[in-house]
Amino acid sequence: MKLFKMRGGVHPEARKADSSERPIRILPLPPLLHVPLQQHIGAPAKPVVRVGDKVLAGQLVGVGQGHVSAPVHAPTSGTVVAIGDHPAPHPSGLSAATVTIAPDGEGRWFEYEVPADPFALAPDDIAARAGAAGIVGLGGAAFPSSVKLDASRQSGVDTLVINGGECEPYLTCDDRIMRERASEIVTGIRLIQHAVGATRALVGIEDNKPEALAAMRAAAAATDVQIRAVPAMYPMGWEKQMIHALLGREVPAEGRSADIGVLVHNVATAWAVQQAVCQGRPLVSRIVTVSGGAVVAPCNLEVPIGAPVQALFDVCGGFRTTPARLVLGGPMMGQQIARTSVPVVKGTSGVLALTQAEIGLTRPAPCIRCSTCVRACPVGLLPLEIAARVRSDDLAGAVALGLKDCIGCGSCSYVCPSGIPLVHFFNYAKGDLAAQARSKAKQETTRKLAAERSARIERIAREREEAAAARKAAKAAKEAAARAAATTEAAA
Ligand code: SF4
Ligand code: SF4
Repeated sequence: MKLFKMRGGVHPEARKADSSERPIRILPLPPLLHVPLQQHIGAPAKPVVRVGDKVLAGQLVGVGQGHVSAPVHAPTSGTVVAIGDHPAPHPSGLSAATVTIAPDGEGRWFEYEVPADPFALAPDDIAARAGAAGIVGLGGAAFPSSVKLDASRQSGVDTLVINGGECEPYLTCDDRIMRERASEIVTGIRLIQHAVGATRALVGIEDNKPEALAAMRAAAAATDVQIRAVPAMYPMGWEKQMIHALLGREVPAEGRSADIGVLVHNVATAWAVQQAVCQGRPLVSRIVTVSGGAVVAPCNLEVPIGAPVQALFDVCGGFRTTPARLVLGGPMMGQQIARTSVPVVKGTSGVLALTQAEIGLTRPAPCIRCSTCVRACPVGLLPLEIAARVRSDDLAGAVALGLKDCIGCGSCSYVCPSGIPLVHFFNYAKGDLAAQARSKAKQETTRKLAAERSARIERIAREREEAAAARKAAKAAKEAAARAAATTEAAA
């Protein structure tokens, strides 16, 4: 099958060898699991348990609210010991609503009904089961999967693309899950395909993962699922890049893949769908790569949601040196964190402890207008020009040059010979844009409320005047009738 040429992209040092040959191990249960009620894009879940409640593994502890949301479940059996704020896995270091569970070590599961033949289920039943299991995009986006499945079925996609790109340096969790759980992944892919009615399913895997390619090909041999090797480059794991490489289709700017008839899911998400539908197991754990030059023994772990990041580092032998930076996810698009007490959540693909040498911070030099950043950008933007607008506080100019289309992949910063942190400018400017949008929305809401209040006051005043006029008219009519009656009586 023909592959299509991609735009831009870079080849950062992979640094995957430290963990790629380490089979998945199960993280021993830590004393406490901190399960945030918002681990997904959309509205946070609402707690349905109380402090002191006993819970089973997989039991619902937070119910999704609204259309775009996801429920959360107990990762193991134990007791709810707190419901309140706990440090969130976010660069801000702020806290978020969290259900804290003390495991009892028994690992007893809540029993959900399992269908005898999952492929006999109605398509919308599969989406509903994925939604009830709290499945979100495990590639990092954490968008509720059932919303994507429902929207894709309704809009009618013809192709399901399963993303096995894993292009971020250091990360090997998808590589390992494909090597070790290929058969379950293929079943999950077929279930998703059945759920959305796609006529074909393609899996794109970078060609630097030969073992994963072989395992997936073997598992898919007797099915219609097609396994494709794609060139290893960054950001191949970006869904628009993967779609273009496999299908040659372009997702429109600010559009969705469903607009061009494609649904994209990550390989680990397909595994989670198989677990939910065939085993009745909600999403309560995930595979996480623990790596970085500061870690004694990098590895891949299956981690219960809510385990503190420190527990992962401890299992890997701790630090050989003080980390210069802690990152959740990959080094290119991951989030820097300030402390190791934050929990692993559904979207946590990696936990990195990087040394100063790995960060390679240098003092930025002036731009030499070499255009290297332009050639690296997978979106086709002009990073140097956008950065110039952002630096001169010309946000409108930056937006006109495509700031909103920037995916924050960091390829431009990576290749810049002057060491200019271009992506930092863009992220900062996007934060400003978001704040402006929030402020505008707030002003608009205030304006609407004030207009509604004025209209309400006017209506009440008008109704009072009308009532008074009606009363006056009734009184006059009554008096006239009395006078007429008196006159008639006198005449008689
Ligand atoms: S790569 Fe760096 S130095 Fe070259 S044009 Fe872009 S911003 Fe300027
Ligand atoms: S961070 Fe934005 S501007 Fe830079 S290469 Fe990626 S998409 Fe292009």
